Amino acid sequence: MTMPVIFERSVPGRIASAPPAPDVPDVPLEAIVGEEHIRSTPPALPEVSELDLVRHYTRLSQRNYAVDTGFYPLGSCTMKYNPKVNEDAARLSGFARLHPNTPAPLAQGALELLWRLEQMLCEISGMDRVTFQPSAGAHGEMTALMMIRACLEDRGEHRTRVIVPDSAHGTNPSSAAMCGFEVVTVRSDERGNIDHAALRRAADGSVAALMLTNPNTLGLFEEGVCEVAEIVHGCGGLMYLDGANFNAMLGITRPGDQGFDVMHMNVHKTFGTPHGGGGPGAGPVAVKRLLEPYLPAPTVEREGDRFLLDGDRPKSIGRVRAFNGNFGIFVRTYAYLLAYGPLLRQVSEAAVLNANYLLALLRPYFDLPYDRRCMHEFVLSGRRQKEQYGIRTLEMAKRLLDYGFHAPTVYFPLIVDEAIMIEPTETESRQTLDEFADALIRVAGECATDAETVRNAPHRTVVTRLDEVSAARKLNLRYTAAERRGS
Ligand SMILES: *Cc1c(COP(=O)(O)O)cnc(C)c1O
Repeated sequence: MTMPVIFERSVPGRIASAPPAPDVPDVPLEAIVGEEHIRSTPPALPEVSELDLVRHYTRLSQRNYAVDTGFYPLGSCTMKYNPKVNEDAARLSGFARLHPNTPAPLAQGALELLWRLEQMLCEISGMDRVTFQPSAGAHGEMTALMMIRACLEDRGEHRTRVIVPDSAHGTNPSSAAMCGFEVVTVRSDERGNIDHAALRRAADGSVAALMLTNPNTLGLFEEGVCEVAEIVHGCGGLMYLDGANFNAMLGITRPGDQGFDVMHMNVHKTFGTPHGGGGPGAGPVAVKRLLEPYLPAPTVEREGDRFLLDGDRPKSIGRVRAFNGNFGIFVRTYAYLLAYGPLLRQVSEAAVLNANYLLALLRPYFDLPYDRRCMHEFVLSGRRQKEQYGIRTLEMAKRLLDYGFHAPTVYFPLIVDEAIMIEPTETESRQTLDEFADALIRVAGECATDAETVRNAPHRTVVTRLDEVSAARKLNLRYTAAERRGS
């Protein structure tokens, strides 16, 4: 069923609200902004009633898929439930209505929250200090690499290369390249760990850092992580953890104890704050003492009972964002940690258990290139279906939509042919996991019995098969009623 765009609802002269007549003198617009800034034709805005407006956007919102409407097994994204009590906390007017330029003496509650949250994140990560400025994980990566560069330059070392394993998320090499580093890719071994021999060959005096994800993007714990840290530190480089997969380690092991010098956290993945269409995330970066002088300024400090912003940090890399990051997100993170802090180990254990349960249900039906106990996610391969029935993973993912589930991550990590990356998270019930496994197993079965249906899926969604290349390359944001009728 198609739905008109809001412009098609437009009727000339129709309005949603009628403001009262002004009780101040009516000054012509020209007198305020100058004639040259006034447009000759009015903007082509839709003219609709309030009810039309409400219905239009409410209907539109109901066509979205969200964690609040269904299972979202998007590997590497940790689409866990976002507890609603966190939303209540973020909406407390003392937080929500605080102007970001409020002087520190009048923003004590907000600063105290950041200070306390920093203590919590340090304890969980085994790090010493945290910056809240980065807006998301990728921004945190860049912030961390800038600090690493500043630290090395301070030592008089001009190092130019950053090592990234071949299983890494695309943001890792991009962040390194954006910071002007040369990216060196190191391959994974047959167990899915970074290849130590290859790492030793790459590790020399030109290496600024290794960017590692642990558990890595295959959902596997880096078995030799401490040895990897020795190799990198041995050549004078720093260890960076991409903390996107922190949900597998909480309360069990700490990156700071594994030899990492700096990490980002995706609070929108690990600590239950919304992301995707649900709102902005945040990517706080935690560092060991050696990087503390280079943290973005200002930092939040405590002096006795008072909290203050310290901008007097001569070695700081400067600001990477306005104010103190996505503050509302940190209220949610803090609320999450107050609720689950003592239970964090159970959060991770349940995430790992759920993933292994799902893997056990699915493994007879798909290839499993790295056959080890998984952490919070796992990567299957659709190779068998491609070879036997000519059906690509993309097509199976689309067919899954017909069964009412969001598709898993596909074609990532790049080192797995026809990758299907599944992350259930700890917040899903066994019933949901069973229903999802049933659906995916049915799709695998249909590849043999009803290949055409799979190949042309989805059939039951609002829009069916999109031409993804055209959709990305030929964006049409000025879709008119005439074009619509013509199509
Ligand atoms: C999500 C993710 C990132 C990027 O984080 P954003 O918060 O989306 O910027 C980086 N690395 C990995 C492994 C991820 O899963």
